Amino acid sequence: MSSISQSSRRAFIQTALGGSVALPALGLHGEAPIAPKGLAFHEPALDLPVNSDADVIVCGAGPAGISAAITAARAGARTRLFEVHGCLGGVWTAGLLTYIFDFDKPGLTRELVKKLDERDARRSKNPSRFVYEPEPMKLLLEEMCVEAGVQFQLHTRLAAAYRNGGRLSTIVTDSKAGREAWSAPVFIDATGDGDLGAQAGCAWDIGQSKECPCQPLTMNALAVVKNAKALGQYMSFYADDSRHLEAVEEFKGELKRAGIETSYGHPTLFHVRDNLVMIMINHEYGIKPFDAAAVTAATVRARREVYTVVEGLRKLGGIWEEMQVAATAEQIGIRDGRRIHGRYVVTKQDLVDGARQIDGVARATFAADIHAADPEKNKDGAVTHGGIKTKPYDIPLRALIAKDIDGLMMAGRCISGDFIAHASYRVTGNAVAMGEAAGVVAAIAAKSKRLPHEVDWSEGAAKLAAMGQRV
Ligand SMILES: Cc1cc2nc3c(=O)[nH]c(=O)nc-3n(C[C@H](O)[C@H](O)[C@H](O)COP(=O)(O)OP(=O)(O)OC[C@H]3O[C@@H](n4cnc5c(N)ncnc54)[C@H](O)[C@@H]3O)c2cc1C
Repeated sequence: MSSISQSSRRAFIQTALGGSVALPALGLHGEAPIAPKGLAFHEPALDLPVNSDADVIVCGAGPAGISAAITAARAGARTRLFEVHGCLGGVWTAGLLTYIFDFDKPGLTRELVKKLDERDARRSKNPSRFVYEPEPMKLLLEEMCVEAGVQFQLHTRLAAAYRNGGRLSTIVTDSKAGREAWSAPVFIDATGDGDLGAQAGCAWDIGQSKECPCQPLTMNALAVVKNAKALGQYMSFYADDSRHLEAVEEFKGELKRAGIETSYGHPTLFHVRDNLVMIMINHEYGIKPFDAAAVTAATVRARREVYTVVEGLRKLGGIWEEMQVAATAEQIGIRDGRRIHGRYVVTKQDLVDGARQIDGVARATFAADIHAADPEKNKDGAVTHGGIKTKPYDIPLRALIAKDIDGLMMAGRCISGDFIAHASYRVTGNAVAMGEAAGVVAAIAAKSKRLPHEVDWSEGAAKLAAMGQRV
């Protein structure tokens, strides 16, 4: 049950909203010349009041961003968190992921497992990989942010970033409140796609090259079935923790019986709770995450595919009778976003060697998980490990600190790494551990008037231990 009373929740929300001193700038209402055909429209500039009440500003509230914000706030930093969607959690919630990998680490990961268990919102006793319920997750993350004192603002997109000399100084957000400017000593890019680093002018990579042979997008969905137990043999990690590929093959057999070949060659079912299941059946190829029109078209195709699958299975009758879509993800899942250049690049070789780092902030154990980049490859190998055997390796703090600008850290998908390494460290256990590390270092840097790269990781680790967060 909720550990936060309704009144303190209301009080926080009022504080969070009241805390914004920037007056909304809802755009100019004046004249602007019509751009001649083929020429650029010059958007008039705005004067924005600057809100400077934060020590640490985090953009993006996925697994990495919420961990960064909660940890920074617990470490004593006044922390603001901006999220474009209507809930906290990123791919965990807006993306309806439901499955978590590489979570068995000290720190916030263990706290999250405990809190999910207290709410009976987790299936499986395995601390490293398990199914969780997305709706209780939304509530849990809000409560944890409230408790930590994070000032978060939903429905608010990071729109621009500005530097002063070599240092990131100000960001501009866009929301129904208009354009708002925010300054802080330290910023954390946890947007997954590296929006903040890119806006700040940092160099970045994506996929296998800038032209993006990238991992495909995937629309996740929840469905209600008549009797989940009867579908046990088709569900990954159901009852028997290790049974995945056999379940996928058996599920494929049922899809074939319904006359359906899914765009994802490893169609997967997870048991969420009672008669609620998650279906992952879709791949959308060749889409850049910052091409809004292409992401929109992919979303429309993907949602249609989810319905085609559920309607097709339902027509089979029997155990599939009464199956219906309960929810499709608000945000189609994006695997490959921008990887912002940092002071260290995590590489494929680090995975092969099992690299140890003096400033290692997280030990990743997950194999490279490479989904086919096109429909042809999907036929032979929907998912591969990139031809390498991964040993547990360290993600160093340096990979979380931007190279091209001071005062900017990254956490989660958008840290500094190569294509293969990203295919491993991107899973959410690592995102949480990275967020935690970025949060504590950002707080120490801001409070001691230093830059993140001037903080030794031993200080961050000691602070986390003193906070009782990594013991
Ligand atoms: C289909 C799919 C399946 C996956 N399967 C698994 C799995 O089974 N287990 C697992 O552990 N991991 C899995 N992963 C990987 C994992 O989910 C992600 O890599 C992980 O979410 C990384 O966390 P993040 O916080 O960096 O990014 P995200 O979860 O993407 O969070 C980024 C957040 O930033 C917000 N944001 C983005 N841009 C802006 C902006 N400009 N302004 C404000 N907010 C912004 C987004 O709305 C989002 O909330 C999967 C990923 C996908 C896509």
